[in-house]
Amino acid sequence: MTQWLSEKNDNNWTVADSVQLYGPSAWGAGYFSINDQGNACINVTVNEKPITVAITDIVEGMKSRGLDMPCVLRIENLLDERIRLINDSFADAMQRVDYRGFYRGVFPIKVNQQYHVIEEIASFGKRYKHGLEAGSKAELLIALSQLNDFDSLIICNGYKDEEFIELGLYAIAMGYNCFFVIESSEELETILAQSNKLGVDPLIGIRVRLATTVDGHWSGDSGDGSIFGVSTAGILRAVEILKAADKLDCLQLLHCHLGSQIPNIRNVRIGIQETCQYYAGLIAEGAPMGYLDIGGGLAVDYDGSQSNTSHSMNYGISEYCTNVIETVIETLDPLGIEHPHIVSESGRSTVAYSSMLLFNILSVRSKQAYHLPAAIDDEWPEALVNLFEAHQQLSLHNVQETFNDAIYYRDEVRQLFQRGQASLRERAMAEEMTLAILNQIRLLMPKLSRIPQALEDIPKTIASIYYGNFSLFQSLPDVWAIDQVFPIMPIHRLDEFPSTEAIIADLTCDCDGRIDRFILNNEYHETIPLHALRQDEEYYLGVFLVGAYQETLGDLHNLFGDTNVVSVHINGEDSFEFRREFEGDSIADVLSYVEYTPAIMLEQLRKICENAVQKGKITPKIRKSILGAFRQSLQGYTYFER
Ligand SMILES: *Cc1c(COP(=O)(O)O)cnc(C)c1O
Repeated sequence: MTQWLSEKNDNNWTVADSVQLYGPSAWGAGYFSINDQGNACINVTVNEKPITVAITDIVEGMKSRGLDMPCVLRIENLLDERIRLINDSFADAMQRVDYRGFYRGVFPIKVNQQYHVIEEIASFGKRYKHGLEAGSKAELLIALSQLNDFDSLIICNGYKDEEFIELGLYAIAMGYNCFFVIESSEELETILAQSNKLGVDPLIGIRVRLATTVDGHWSGDSGDGSIFGVSTAGILRAVEILKAADKLDCLQLLHCHLGSQIPNIRNVRIGIQETCQYYAGLIAEGAPMGYLDIGGGLAVDYDGSQSNTSHSMNYGISEYCTNVIETVIETLDPLGIEHPHIVSESGRSTVAYSSMLLFNILSVRSKQAYHLPAAIDDEWPEALVNLFEAHQQLSLHNVQETFNDAIYYRDEVRQLFQRGQASLRERAMAEEMTLAILNQIRLLMPKLSRIPQALEDIPKTIASIYYGNFSLFQSLPDVWAIDQVFPIMPIHRLDEFPSTEAIIADLTCDCDGRIDRFILNNEYHETIPLHALRQDEEYYLGVFLVGAYQETLGDLHNLFGDTNVVSVHINGEDSFEFRREFEGDSIADVLSYVEYTPAIMLEQLRKICENAVQKGKITPKIRKSILGAFRQSLQGYTYFER
């Protein structure tokens, strides 16, 4: 890539180059592109017509509504498209082989619990009887209040106390298909006791602990070492308990969840095969069964490589559905078992595409600009003279040698400084000269037939730091926690040459608050080419595919709170509406999360100010201004405001 990029400049850069560099056609699943004006766009289908909307147009709309950066932009159409896609893909796969069961999707609420996400999934999903998966009491309350189609499923996973079970049984009494997926045979005892008490028969599923393990980050969710699921012996114990209570007819679902972001389709096939054998085994034990729940795990191709590496997937949705259906048929048909209804709990794949994080760049610390002295000064220490000469003599033929010299003499000047034998100015000159040498080596690197290992880090060393108006910990927690890679691209100026190699830092005072891994031209890189900032003009970056898991895993590091969120629905060409806007946390909000009471804080400050007035340090008028500023700050956004 360095070769290709090094031949690019302001004159020969085109939009096509940006497409190749930032890769929206690789990771965007067709939803993202760049238009001729160099703006990033969202592509959706409205009334069967393809529609393209520039993200910059939506940002203009946000500005005129007073919604500041950073902001999560959610596109409702993309939620709808994903729900349609999984339902249609399963329907197609079933139709092709005359499958005799149906498909019911459920959205796992934990993946994005935001009200308007769930509301949209429930309302658009209704036509497909798309249901919800709840892993806690709170999530069950969400499911009960949002789903209004009794044919949709509610799947309850996780540990359940009496109250949880009582709620689920009431749901069944009302007519919901609400399944308790049990994690242990003890849980079953509680369910049976509550069911007796309320006189409502439960719908029961069992989560099996498979021996199959999967590739990728979440391999620990399955296999013998998994903390989830019931062992084979445990399943038989559950069957005995149900038989003894004369409730075996309630056991109608088998559940497996192999882990999230399964990169390899082979894992899916093998896992489903094993699950089907359990399914057959339970039928042999006399359970009626009927539903096979294959859990989540359908991956997102974050890096666009279509490979079986952890940020990618070596299959598409349609292939996933076909593989599931084929495996079920291959395993159960020979046993003469009726086709089960297939349930899947895809979270990541359903919501990842619909949200992007947008933020502006506040400033840039350049390591590509430096000041050099015109000539050697007699007073200089020898190391500095040597450094000056090394810089002058740098050529394609002595790159490695000059690099070694530069580091050696720079360190020598630093040591002299340490001992008081070099001045502040001399140290500064040594560092600037070294920077000049590194920058010039960087330009020569593409011309080298082989890049010596010592030079490999130079691009990162001299990368500019772009300070973004966001908190990694609040908005992209997985980048910090599990080295997740999300595609990043400027949302405008994509017809211009991005001349600056950069890394991105956030607003927190934490060295982990940085992004230094990027997908560019289908490869991983430690720096990203970005555009130089312009005077009086904002520069916006988008982090894409952030709809899954990021919003609630985020935390309040440095007390940066929730960002603004806007939900946009695209209605047609150049036509979109702001369906919902949520103002992010104010400073008063985040302070109250950590138990401060803004009114008391104000009162305390009032006393301090009054004291200062009494001591003659400030005038009553200044006191008024101080309290006014404090009050106003409490109501303000936690991020940088222009
Ligand atoms: C988290 C989870 C899911 C969602 O998995 P994705 O990989 O996001 O689709 C589904 N089912 C269960 C039981 C889960 O814990």
